[in-house]
Amino acid sequence: MKAAVVTKDHKVKITNKTLRPLKHGEALLKMVCCGVCHTDLHVKNADFGDKTGVTLGHEGVGIVSEVGPGVTSLKPGDRASVAWFFKGCGHCEYCTTGHETLCRSVENAGFSVDGGMAEECIVVADYAVKVPDSLDSAAASSITCAGVTTYKAIKMTRTTPGQWIVIYGLGGLGNLALQYAKNVFNAKVVAVDVNDSQLRLATKMGADLVVNPRKEDATSVIQEKTGGCHAAVVTAVAKDAFNSAVGAVRAGGRVIAVGLPPEAMSLDIPRLVLDGIEVVGSLVGTRQDLAEAFQFAAEGKVTPKVTLRAIEDINDIFQEMEDGKICGRMVIDLQRRT
Ligand code: NAD
Ligand code: ZN
Ligand code: ZN
Repeated sequence: MKAAVVTKDHKVKITNKTLRPLKHGEALLKMVCCGVCHTDLHVKNADFGDKTGVTLGHEGVGIVSEVGPGVTSLKPGDRASVAWFFKGCGHCEYCTTGHETLCRSVENAGFSVDGGMAEECIVVADYAVKVPDSLDSAAASSITCAGVTTYKAIKMTRTTPGQWIVIYGLGGLGNLALQYAKNVFNAKVVAVDVNDSQLRLATKMGADLVVNPRKEDATSVIQEKTGGCHAAVVTAVAKDAFNSAVGAVRAGGRVIAVGLPPEAMSLDIPRLVLDGIEVVGSLVGTRQDLAEAFQFAAEGKVTPKVTLRAIEDINDIFQEMEDGKICGRMVIDLQRRT
């Protein structure tokens, strides 16, 4: 079967792979589609170590075609997801206290195990969250990483309805962060992006204020117009955005770090201490977070902007991502016959 596999020279090759037989507790998915996340770009560029040979993809949606021994949570015909949080150990302090994505023995799809950018994918049945019937597969694919990650990040802001959240980066993750913040958490939202076309989309989706830091000083505009946001969610792949977010929140504000530029941010210690600022990392979401994030999308509160593409386009898609040309999410159509 066809799979999008990372090569030594930081490209992706469409290769024929043969999957091994299913083990106890596993299921085989015939993949419908898989979104292309900026994390896939980091993985293929070896930002988190060399991953030559791995099949990419952690925004996958597929239909169960076969189950291995001992599977009770999925049956053939079910639609299920392939998420970055592929499997935890199930018994450590993180797995048993609602922090399973931090499990030290975690497996991640499209990173430590083969992911969903392929015609077929093996999943651990108890970890593959089912997709609600009323949610179409392309929309569901975006929720599988971008949606759950930002839904969880907004939860972690601990804001209450009517408070201000500033979102840095309005790309694949950010436009969903905006929708969860506005339509589920009832927040007021500032959208910050260096790309005006992302800001136009943000305005259409209901942002209360948009700021382009290449044209104006983001922290002073935000402080002046909102009195300082109660929280920031940073999905931008740039350390400037992280530094700016610390300046954009009010005293007691929380900065939720989501984007993964492989570099360090600078923290002004007196600002942190004297103004009681919190900076917190947030990594995808648990299976329960994903089920909740799916449900809000199924109810129409969040609508991913998706464009279907052929698997052969994958290297072009990464180039478009690096060039900042993508609005919403590019989703690989794995049922397309070429
Ligand atoms: P994307 O490329 O679709 O979007 C990034 C956006 O950031 C773009 O709109 C870009 O214009 C904007 N941007 C770039 N520089 C900026 C700046 N200085 N200020 C404001 N905006 C700026 O990427 P994505 O798929 O949304 O992923 C974003 C990041 O989140 C990646 O680093 C990805 O690896 C990471 N990620 C983290 C998690 C997690 O669990 N923490 C999950 C998924 C993705
Ligand atoms: Zn992702
Ligand atoms: Zn664990």
